[in-house]
Amino acid sequence: MNMNNFKLTIGHLYPDLLNLYGDRGNILSLKKRCEWRGITVEIKEYELNDDIDFSQLDIIFLGGGSDREQLLVCNRLKEIKKDINEYVEDNGVVVAVCGGYQLLGHYYKLKDQSIEGLSVLDIYTEMGNTRLIGNVVIESELLGKTEKIVGFENHGGRTHINDHQPLGIVEYGHGNNGKDGYEGVIYKNVIGTYLHGPLFPKNPALTDYVLSKALSRAYPDSFTQLPVLDDAVELNARDYIVQRFSKK
Ligand code: GLN
Repeated sequence: MNMNNFKLTIGHLYPDLLNLYGDRGNILSLKKRCEWRGITVEIKEYELNDDIDFSQLDIIFLGGGSDREQLLVCNRLKEIKKDINEYVEDNGVVVAVCGGYQLLGHYYKLKDQSIEGLSVLDIYTEMGNTRLIGNVVIESELLGKTEKIVGFENHGGRTHINDHQPLGIVEYGHGNNGKDGYEGVIYKNVIGTYLHGPLFPKNPALTDYVLSKALSRAYPDSFTQLPVLDDAVELNARDYIVQRFSKK
């Protein structure tokens, strides 16, 4: 299939406030894997007061942030709540990492105040007494077969996902709350996860999953599948982490 007719637009929301532990590398990875296949990518970076036309976007990315930065973002989120919920219900692709993931839920409760979220997901987060930090290995069924996904987490919040499907089951690390064994969430074309890493360079199959969802939505009549790339280097990096930390 000729990929040259395809174009994806990625909206990076508030990179000046939400961008921890190389989250921006995820955007570069999405872009590079498109370019290797001849797919054009446009990246639009939005600052807090910019207007966002969600109808122009194929993928929205929200990175991690400190509690202080999340508080700054939260007031603005109230103004885009309706639009982003409509985008999600229309199968728009969203990838949200850590602080961004927490903001997709109803709230993130701190010691003496609460950060209101977008309620895109029926989840909530409460601050714990310690931070959950370190490497993570999860096992996910998302990609049509059982696949290991690796990353790095550093969060004080504990997230509870109610009846949502998790992104994966924790094999090593803490995940959503250090207790229930779940990591992340999948809802429609939304992925929420605590995994920085950056996530996408180390997990090429997950990156292609996201790209395929976005292309299927943008080009329902002409897109079928992505050409396969040689991921030997990326998979070596991932497998090294799996062997180093996984209990299985
Ligand atoms: N501030 C949030 C927490 O500590 C998110 C941190 C992050 O994005 N790494 O839970």
